[in-house]
Amino acid sequence: MSKIPSQSSGEREPSVAIVGSGPAGCYTAQMLRKRWPSAQIVVFERLPVPYGLLRYGVSPDHQGTKAIARQFDRLFADGRVHFMGNVEVGKHVSVQQLQDAFDVVVLAAGLGADRPLPGLAGDGVYGAGQVMRWFNSHPDEQSFAPCFGATTTIIGNGNVAVDVLRLLSKHRDSFTGSDLDPRLIEQQPARIHVVGRSPASAAKFDSVMIRELADIDDAVFDVDAVDATGHEDKRIQAKIEALLDLTAVRAVSSPRVHVSFHFGWTSESLESTPDGRTLRLVDTESRQAVKLIETDSVVTAVGFGSGLQHEIDRTYFESDESDLDCGLLDSGLYCSGWFRRGPTGGIPANRLDAKMVCTRIIEDVESGAVTPRKSGLVALAAHLHPDTVDFAGWRRIDAAEASRTAHGRCRTKVPDIATMLDLARTCAPERTTVTCVENQTTDAVGHKEER
Ligand SMILES: Cc1cc2nc3c(=O)[nH]c(=O)nc-3n(C[C@H](O)[C@H](O)[C@H](O)COP(=O)(O)OP(=O)(O)OC[C@H]3O[C@@H](n4cnc5c(N)ncnc54)[C@H](O)[C@@H]3O)c2cc1C
Repeated sequence: MSKIPSQSSGEREPSVAIVGSGPAGCYTAQMLRKRWPSAQIVVFERLPVPYGLLRYGVSPDHQGTKAIARQFDRLFADGRVHFMGNVEVGKHVSVQQLQDAFDVVVLAAGLGADRPLPGLAGDGVYGAGQVMRWFNSHPDEQSFAPCFGATTTIIGNGNVAVDVLRLLSKHRDSFTGSDLDPRLIEQQPARIHVVGRSPASAAKFDSVMIRELADIDDAVFDVDAVDATGHEDKRIQAKIEALLDLTAVRAVSSPRVHVSFHFGWTSESLESTPDGRTLRLVDTESRQAVKLIETDSVVTAVGFGSGLQHEIDRTYFESDESDLDCGLLDSGLYCSGWFRRGPTGGIPANRLDAKMVCTRIIEDVESGAVTPRKSGLVALAAHLHPDTVDFAGWRRIDAAEASRTAHGRCRTKVPDIATMLDLARTCAPERTTVTCVENQTTDAVGHKEER
């Protein structure tokens, strides 16, 4: 572990702990660093690797978006902000211990859990967040083994639903330059239904996401109903036009995959049949008409629940709504990003969020509501386990991943914590064979390969 400068006493700059290294935590660190150039700022992350959903949610074929991580790399690389990975707050250290050690604590732990859909659960039903984590080789999903079958149905009309649709329907050879593990795309359905409760004009996806689907030149798309054209709202009109263009008849001699959009339908139940499953939909508006879809699997993409941790924290701290709105939970304790405002908004929204929360933090320190006096990490040292991962450790993991570019990938992610920790400790990321267990080889990035 590299040495972290201690918080110097007498300085009027607060010691700051941030929980979570996703966009919200990183933007918060960036802004507080700008205001207080010599304050000790430590970002605690439960995984050995940083960047939250930027690494594990954003689609593997959207490397342009993932490149935002580079600006966060710079924040940690020059030692101005300290990364402390493999520390789960609530397990390894408590929020109270952080508050005892640091003047300012910011919770930016995100919200990971897929929101369930009533009536849909059990085998063959998968949450889109989990599917995207799996496509992104998240260590929590190592034992997840979805079986999409020949026909899958995606329920939801947001950008995450379209991400899942694109990853399942794009030709497996067209992931060059992505960091999608080729083994994760071995089963692709030939038939995909996409079901949305609202009419097309109210669908939440962006037109650019629909336009991107048009690049899949061996797929055909159709739509049951598009409700409005000539809409005054330019965003809605762009969305409708993108859908109409996509679903216009196109000459594909033998389509590899056929995608149907169903707008204005609400899923009611999923029943097992001898041949698979039947998804029952009702017309959202009238509740009279029924549509049955034969499907092998269902992916629910209907948002993310406010996880248990969030509920506990909100209840526990009992801040009033106006304080919560600007991120204040308790004296010296703040929250930011999805953890503060719920699971809505893309990465730029977390920048705005961080700006607002940092404004409140700075006001509190300048008004004397928070007095800088706590020594920071040194006061927490006794509670930390020895396997924390610093930024240099992450860089070693990063180098090992980036050196694995087989199948045209820009990197192959390490999928398990043990290998991450091994790599973080060693300085030899190029090493290829680490262990042989019976008939399996575990390579430097932790993938088990059948011989
Ligand atoms: C599947 C998916 C795809 C997306 N794609 C895009 C996209 O293409 N473009 C876009 O702009 N937005 C996208 N978003 C939205 C974007 O990812 C979020 O706006 C953003 O990541 C929220 O940032 P955050 O920091 O609040 O949360 P997160 O990114 O979730 O970060 C939270 C961090 O906290 C850590 N953590 C959690 N609990 C603890 C704990 N107890 N102790 C320590 N650390 C902890 C987590 O491991 C994580 O690293 C996507 C979201 C999803 C779910």
